[in-house]
Amino acid sequence: MGPVGRHAVVIGGSMGGLVAARALSDRFERVTVLDRDTLPDEPRNRRAVPHGGHTHALLIRGRQALEQLFPGLGDELVEAGAVRFDPGQDLLFYQMGGLRTRFNSGELGISLSRALLELSVRRRVLMLSNVTVRDSTSVVGLKGSAVRITGVEVEGGEVIDADLVVNATGRGGGGPDSWLEGLGCPAPEVDTVKIDVGYTTRIFHRKPGDLHEGGLLYLMSAIPPHDKRAAAAFAIEGDRWMVTLGGWHKAHAPVDPAGFEKFASELPARHVAELLGRAEPVDDSDARKFTFPAARRRYFERLRQPPSGFVALGDAMCSFNPLYGQGMTVAALEALQLGRCLDHFGSPSAEMARRYYRSAGKVIDTPWQMATGGDFVYPETQGPRPVGNKIVNWYVKQAMQACQTSVQVHRVMLEMQHLLAPPTAVMRPATVLRALRAARRSRRAG
Ligand SMILES: Cc1cc2nc3c(=O)[nH]c(=O)nc-3n(C[C@H](O)[C@H](O)[C@H](O)COP(=O)(O)OP(=O)(O)OC[C@H]3O[C@@H](n4cnc5c(N)ncnc54)[C@H](O)[C@@H]3O)c2cc1C
Repeated sequence: MGPVGRHAVVIGGSMGGLVAARALSDRFERVTVLDRDTLPDEPRNRRAVPHGGHTHALLIRGRQALEQLFPGLGDELVEAGAVRFDPGQDLLFYQMGGLRTRFNSGELGISLSRALLELSVRRRVLMLSNVTVRDSTSVVGLKGSAVRITGVEVEGGEVIDADLVVNATGRGGGGPDSWLEGLGCPAPEVDTVKIDVGYTTRIFHRKPGDLHEGGLLYLMSAIPPHDKRAAAAFAIEGDRWMVTLGGWHKAHAPVDPAGFEKFASELPARHVAELLGRAEPVDDSDARKFTFPAARRRYFERLRQPPSGFVALGDAMCSFNPLYGQGMTVAALEALQLGRCLDHFGSPSAEMARRYYRSAGKVIDTPWQMATGGDFVYPETQGPRPVGNKIVNWYVKQAMQACQTSVQVHRVMLEMQHLLAPPTAVMRPATVLRALRAARRSRRAG
């Protein structure tokens, strides 16, 4: 198959922009990625991606999609110090008052810092002979008309022509939206779900035996709706723990070490506090905080006439509550969809954009419903509540409790949370019966 166009420009060189560039490199003669930030040649946090210094879980489906785009990436990451784990066996997962039962799931996860993942993916993209990455380059406008985008303008006035422009500018994403509006394109409808999530993250040295139970990772979300706290300690490269404490609706952890430790010691499970008691901080001044007021979904798939030569991808389409760890996985799945749609239509036409938005919308539907559905456990959450949410949340609570005593229910929940199985998997009558029985067992055991 020949190329579908001569030149594609990707605005934004973060995880979304990089996976997009990879998909486009097979379909365009040339791809140029533009990012306003300086892109480091080491696993360092970036100024324009302040969330990059916080725990980033890569779902199993996301790891698979990244390996599809970059074969052999997993081995490279492990060589660089990332930690492989079985999410059923190695994860100490405390939820609803107890630890999930552990079992050999046969699935392979990978735990590392977001900075290392982004750097490794960027290096793979830079190895593609037809891709150029230009950093310190801010895009300030789009060129073209309401029916066809023909390129971008960068700071200083340079115009770069393109057959396709991809908006991967992230959650802010507003620049390209307002530029489109300036050209006469209608803005997409937006759903906003107010969750007031806050993260504080610190890094610690990691030694064998830091967690008595032998787990490599620990994840905790407390007992909603009264308790809004969550915690994660992830083993990352360099024999370190990345520990993130926080929660929904202003249940945020302090940044000072004493306050951080106090927050950990008051959690309903002891594991994080014990870990902090044993592990030495890498640097006391490294604590960082990030607040995330609302999840936001832009419905590009509802646009009747999107312009040709332009699509959005990643957080610019949908920015999920980070506590569910879905964003990078969804961006990689969208990149795969974009490649398929370009192959199908053979050009970056308006039909291609429409089809892409429809399929990206389907990719987003499930994680968006799972995340916002979960967020509505808290009465403080504001926004459009999914239909039937109260009964679904009641049942999900039973299924979460069931994970403490039933391997079968834990397996289904794990597959659903890692986007390997649809949410209907947990609604099958046999699973529902098993979950309700096991939840009773867990409550009796607890
Ligand atoms: C606190 C937090 C924790 C998270 N945890 C997880 C997790 O555990 N797992 C997970 O999968 N996801 C997580 N996410 C989401 C994840 O970070 C994103 O989904 C992922 O990075 C994809 O984002 P993106 O590339 O679309 O946007 P971003 O990462 O925001 O990058 C946008 C890029 O565009 C560039 N840019 C913006 N405007 C311009 C312009 N005008 N010109 C040129 N360049 C521009 C910026 O410099 C930046 O590099 C988390 C997010 C947050 C906020």
